[in-house]
Amino acid sequence: MRHNYSRSAAERRFARVYETVEGDRCIYCGMPSDGAYDHQPPVYVLHRFASGRLVTKREIRERFGRCELVPCCTICNMGLGAYHGESNNDRRREIVNWFLCDSEFPEDKLILDVGYGLIQKYLSGHREKNIYVFPGVGRAIYIEALRGFIDGKFRSPDDFPDWLKLTQSELAEWLRGAPKRKSQYFLDMASLQSYDLVPDARSDPRGQFE
Ligand SMILES: [Zn+2]
Repeated sequence: MRHNYSRSAAERRFARVYETVEGDRCIYCGMPSDGAYDHQPPVYVLHRFASGRLVTKREIRERFGRCELVPCCTICNMGLGAYHGESNNDRRREIVNWFLCDSEFPEDKLILDVGYGLIQKYLSGHREKNIYVFPGVGRAIYIEALRGFIDGKFRSPDDFPDWLKLTQSELAEWLRGAPKRKSQYFLDMASLQSYDLVPDARSDPRGQFE
């Protein structure tokens, strides 16, 4: 049973429920958030919870706890879709899963290897023109940051090694360079033609509503 879902209408409807958490870095990966936020839980989850009836703020709080708007980069936001998850690390696993090597496609490992290789060459002074254009580079950066948080190696972006601090900020700078570049880069990194090709990413990621 699915009620017509309009994201903007649902966002307006539930706006009062969310409290904004201040910050300028993505809480999942540490990238500059550039003023973007992630809804915890996703608006779509509240929409499903309400399923066309009236719900009170209290009902929502009893079911989901505090609802927060957390600083989040566009790419992590797309990786999450409507995935709710149980913790920030659980959400990081959902995001990183888009970028990890797809073992069914051997050439996918090649892309990632080239990404790591380009970063290494760049750092050792063999200047490449712009390594960030290549999506394998972005994947390597996202994987290292997200996995570091998941493994407990990083508690904040301050714990990043220098190379990760540098490449993350340069990647962020390049991504800001053109409109829609961030969302296109997510699709490129995840080897997707279009977000619409994975309806599950929007409606029922990982069967969380089953
Ligand atoms: Zn992020």
